[in-house]
Amino acid sequence: MIYDLVVVGGGAAGFFAALQLKEQYADANIAILEKGKEGLQKVKVSGGGRCNLTHACFDPKELVRFYPRGHKELLGPFHKFGPGDTMGWFDDHGVAVKIEEDNRVFPEANSSQAVIDCFLEAAKSARIPVFYQTALTHLHQEEDYWLVKTKQEDFKAIHVLMATGSASVPWRVLKDLGHHIITPKPSLFTFHCNEDGLQHLSGVVVPEVDIQIIDTNLESSGPLLFTHWGFSGPAVLKLSAWGARILAEKDYRFELMVNFIQMDAASCLELLKKQKEDFGKKQLSNANPFAIPKRLWHRLLELSAIPDSCKWADANKIQLDRLSNLLVAFRFQIEGKSTFKEEFVSAGGIDLKEVDFRSYQSKKFPGLYFAGEILDIDGVTGGFNFQNAWTGAYIAATDMASKLHREL
Ligand SMILES: Cc1cc2nc3c(=O)[nH]c(=O)nc-3n(C[C@H](O)[C@H](O)[C@H](O)COP(=O)(O)OP(=O)(O)OC[C@H]3O[C@@H](n4cnc5c(N)ncnc54)[C@H](O)[C@@H]3O)c2cc1C
Repeated sequence: MIYDLVVVGGGAAGFFAALQLKEQYADANIAILEKGKEGLQKVKVSGGGRCNLTHACFDPKELVRFYPRGHKELLGPFHKFGPGDTMGWFDDHGVAVKIEEDNRVFPEANSSQAVIDCFLEAAKSARIPVFYQTALTHLHQEEDYWLVKTKQEDFKAIHVLMATGSASVPWRVLKDLGHHIITPKPSLFTFHCNEDGLQHLSGVVVPEVDIQIIDTNLESSGPLLFTHWGFSGPAVLKLSAWGARILAEKDYRFELMVNFIQMDAASCLELLKKQKEDFGKKQLSNANPFAIPKRLWHRLLELSAIPDSCKWADANKIQLDRLSNLLVAFRFQIEGKSTFKEEFVSAGGIDLKEVDFRSYQSKKFPGLYFAGEILDIDGVTGGFNFQNAWTGAYIAATDMASKLHREL
């Protein structure tokens, strides 16, 4: 038997593509091949078990700015299938969704199981067989069809969709076939720092900081979280995504500069002097002029050699200079990274130059499609990585459906 479509990978992109094709071409003969005993395992653990499905950003031009790799290529596709379409699809298929304050979109049930149940039930009622524990080992093109080889059996297909995420064997198979793979590196990670006294700040959140990596042009802004091992929070995760390749080259050892108050040094010093004039009788430890948490403020005073009892009037120039310097340009030595448990992805994969983004089809091999993390596309945290998977899956399925209709 020759399938209209064999989907390799029973994850987010794989299931979504198979369902889309069936909705657009009911007679399609589809099989999903999944290496694991169960599919959708990343969906299960995603978003801390709640599955951050997408991001409520409805302007494609704005949306692409959240993708360190793939922003140029995704612009057209997001016009065809964006976050609004994702939300509509899940709503229509019984998964009510909600937008949280920070624009992340989750199932109303607050559980990734709602998404898994939706996919499994929809695949069952569309009679799409899922072959579990069936891992792709080889792929090659015969005259009229693709031969998809697994340890268990071989599958013939007119179209093949590769949706194997960041698994290494399928990348190797595609490399052997003739595709170029950009070497994968981790993205979305937190920073390790062994600086003395940092552990006491664990749990402190500074609502808005500017951070930059010395000797690079990498910088970002946003909330910063002190952890018991170093730093996390949106500012750090964004920086880890944009810097995924450069930081890997540096073996995750670099100097991080933090501006806790988003001010330049001169304005900060001016403000400290004004504080000295206006609140001379108050203790520095009780009169903090900045929107930074108390524990951090105390640590900065300590590092500036300003005792708790010191009044603003008694603070000398050296102390204020030092404090100002720490507030606007605190340098931390970063020595490694760790995984951000809520979400992590790979930067790397199929070279985007080899993919036609009108169809998500290989430019080298007609009939071979890609969707999801297998491509050299990744977003920052917030639902963008799943949106990449849904969009690619939808467009690939739509292209196949139009071809199957034409063949009728
Ligand atoms: C802990 C965690 C939390 C996350 N949370 C979020 C989130 O909340 N929001 C968000 O947008 N993104 C999140 N992500 C990222 C998101 O999960 C991925 O970007 C997304 O799952 C990619 O979908 P995919 O279908 O391309 O790959 P996957 O979902 O990884 O699916 C690939 C499938 O292919 C199968 N496979 C691999 N090799 C073979 C083979 N040889 N043969 C057959 N099958 C094979 C795998 O077993 C797997 O089931 C998270 C990631 C992690 C790790």
